[in-house]
Amino acid sequence: MSRGASGSSALVPESFMSCLSKVLNKSIYNEAKQPQVAVLSMFSLISTRHATKTDPNLATSNTGMGAMALPQPRAGLMDIPLYEGGKSSLKGHGRVIKLSSNESALGPSPAALVAHADAASSLVRYPDGNATALKSAISDVHGLDSSQLMCGAGSDEILCLVCRAYAGPGDEVLHTAHGFLMYGIYARSVGATPVVVPETNLMADVDAILAAVTDATKIVFVANPNNPTGTVLPGADLARLRARLREDIVLVVDGAYAEFMGGADYDGGRALVESTPNTVMTRTFSKIYGLASLRVGWAYAPRSIIETLERLRSPFNVNGPALAAASAAMRDVAHTKAAFDHNVRWMGVAVQRLRSLGLEVIGESGNFVLPKFPNVPGKTAADADVFLQSKGIIVRRVDNYGLPDHLRITLGDDDEMNAVLTVVAEFMGGDSG
Ligand code: PMP
Repeated sequence: MSRGASGSSALVPESFMSCLSKVLNKSIYNEAKQPQVAVLSMFSLISTRHATKTDPNLATSNTGMGAMALPQPRAGLMDIPLYEGGKSSLKGHGRVIKLSSNESALGPSPAALVAHADAASSLVRYPDGNATALKSAISDVHGLDSSQLMCGAGSDEILCLVCRAYAGPGDEVLHTAHGFLMYGIYARSVGATPVVVPETNLMADVDAILAAVTDATKIVFVANPNNPTGTVLPGADLARLRARLREDIVLVVDGAYAEFMGGADYDGGRALVESTPNTVMTRTFSKIYGLASLRVGWAYAPRSIIETLERLRSPFNVNGPALAAASAAMRDVAHTKAAFDHNVRWMGVAVQRLRSLGLEVIGESGNFVLPKFPNVPGKTAADADVFLQSKGIIVRRVDNYGLPDHLRITLGDDDEMNAVLTVVAEFMGGDSG
């Protein structure tokens, strides 16, 4: 380093001084022919920054910190598998038939669309954090006490809140072998251990669940009907499960597909919520109501559980347009009935045609079917999926549910159903009837 002026400026190089003088276009020396104090401080700042960038030893000593370390997620977090939603596009196909995510065949109620559009005029305002109008709509249509309701950003949010509230490290969360994948993911997200309980013939098995309970069990998730198996636990079995579970275990009856159910034997969990202090029933607007994109779900539970979950949810968890659309959708019971009837009709047709092709279909509930394909080269579920995709039809592979021989096919509209059943028949080399 060449020396500049003497004394306190001895370490300021000449080149720096002349450069600065040119840039500032004025003298940088004081009357004593020393660089001005401001110049000395500027040099000191620049040289320190430069050293920090280029010399790791100086960086450590300058900042007083040890070696730089990136933020580390909590132990086990990076082991959580990423949830993969259904595909919605195919290379080389402009328009596709998307039957991969159990969305509604008929779409939302027209009244919901109007309410959603109207809500655009008040986007400047925060939504009603208590979802008062939506809870009133649910309460009116289902005859439920509003104070026992909570709305969430999809029922997903509520499933997650239940885990956050009632499970943690060292605790176990039970779900059945082919239960909804998010149960295990949410359990792990709070540091709890998911415990997978075997099913019998794709059906939740109450005795197996009870046998898997330990002192560490905190939550049991049962989807009824279950996705992706389409099987249903009869009301008496659900009641027996609740009666034999310890009182401190929360039983979640996930009714994402409950609105597609009819029949006296079906139990959506309501009676258990009303007769026990530890059962939660969840529902969604993503399926029969056709509002999957808006992310709205709800829970019906004893007040003590609602009050617990309320402490964890973010204050404006459901957005304004979603609240408006969901309220209108809930009140449009005629549209819901039309969607129900459409589903019943196509469930019957689809199950009958698939079985007539020699494909096994066990569950017949929900808005999807789960045919099992032969484990024969050229005829497997993977082959069928490729064939369907070549015709622009997207269904759901369920390998990640431990069902590599099955495909889950959402019941779509009339044209979509005719198309998918014809293509599966063509694939199987038969006539779909
Ligand atoms: N439970 C089950 C059984 C499901 O299949 C789904 C969606 N696929 C959900 C809950 C979550 O639904 P959402 O968050 O859209 O309300």
